[in-house]
Amino acid sequence: KTPLIKKTTPIPIALYGGRNAVTMLPGDGIGPELMGYVREVFKYAGAPVDFEVIDIDPKSDDNSELEYAITSIKRNGVAIKGNIETKSESTLVLSRNVAIRNELDLYVNILHCKSYPGVPSRQQDIDIVIIRQNTEGEYAMLEHESVDGVVESMKVVTQSNSERVARFAFDYVKRTGRKRLTTIHKANIMKLSDGLFLDTSKKIAKEYPEIEHNDMIIDNCCMQLVSNPHQFDVMIMTNLYGSIVSNVVCGLIGGAGLLSGKNYGDHYAIFEPGTRNTGTAIAGKNIANPIAMLNAGVDMLEHLGHQQHANLIKRAIEKTLCEDKIHTPDLGGTAKSTDVVQRIIDHILQADIRPW
Ligand code: ATP
Repeated sequence: KTPLIKKTTPIPIALYGGRNAVTMLPGDGIGPELMGYVREVFKYAGAPVDFEVIDIDPKSDDNSELEYAITSIKRNGVAIKGNIETKSESTLVLSRNVAIRNELDLYVNILHCKSYPGVPSRQQDIDIVIIRQNTEGEYAMLEHESVDGVVESMKVVTQSNSERVARFAFDYVKRTGRKRLTTIHKANIMKLSDGLFLDTSKKIAKEYPEIEHNDMIIDNCCMQLVSNPHQFDVMIMTNLYGSIVSNVVCGLIGGAGLLSGKNYGDHYAIFEPGTRNTGTAIAGKNIANPIAMLNAGVDMLEHLGHQQHANLIKRAIEKTLCEDKIHTPDLGGTAKSTDVVQRIIDHILQADIRPW
């Protein structure tokens, strides 16, 4: 039988004179101000990265900027991204965020939810990884009104995508030395779609006998996450469950402003804040937490192979949050976004070991 997943050749990442070119999509709401902080911190950390900034107008029905953004990511291989709003009322204008992920075939989203010691939160010492199928499921964007007053929405689950995300998840558990993978589903009700996703992960589990595999119904998973989150190690799930569970876990450890998420396909990668919020209500007030987007920048540097620069920024973030306790209002503090960024830059400038 021919394997469903064909081996593909990775496309090289853009590198000119030792510097990486990456696409920057600031998005809307707090996105542009947070990207400004990323550029500032990268400058002081000496990160060898140049940004190709592309603004997509959320009010426009014209998709030429979106197409330019996709071409740019294909050229550079890598992007950092804020959330793009879809303001058009027209059902013909689809979410640009979903369109970008689908067009680039970024089939997996990873959210590493690790507590920052000393940051006020509902739960401490959380260390959970959520691996989410990122391109289909409930986000297939196939909705229609079949007759007046009856709307149908398709949830698409394919064997090939379920298989490659499952294989990615088991490889991730193995590579990172973690212990257990839990498949989250609702196969008791959605017997065909979630049934296929669950059966596929059980099938792939047989190739990884050293990894413990179990499964849990999504409803119970949400309850367990609130009452006993420390039982979880790595979780894998379809798209919408992934979005909801990611938000639950981020809420447990400090909210939308801390964690970053990674989107991977076979060829391209996009880094962004973990909960993908726009933050329209807090834009321009100098109160948005800059950490989630800075962590997206750290993830991107690691992906590009600039580990020393990534470590430098990571340590400066940890010192600012956990030791100095410079916290924005979402974490119960009174610091401005710029206070947090300034302290991070101070730590970078004082660091003993600088990569340049
Ligand atoms: P909208 O498009 O209406 O902005 P959304 O789904 O993107 O909606 P938000 O309302 O933007 O979600 O975000 C959810 C909550 O998280 C809000 O209370 C917002 O203020 C908060 N939030 C998001 N990002 C940050 C951040 N970086 N710092 C502090 N709070 C944040």
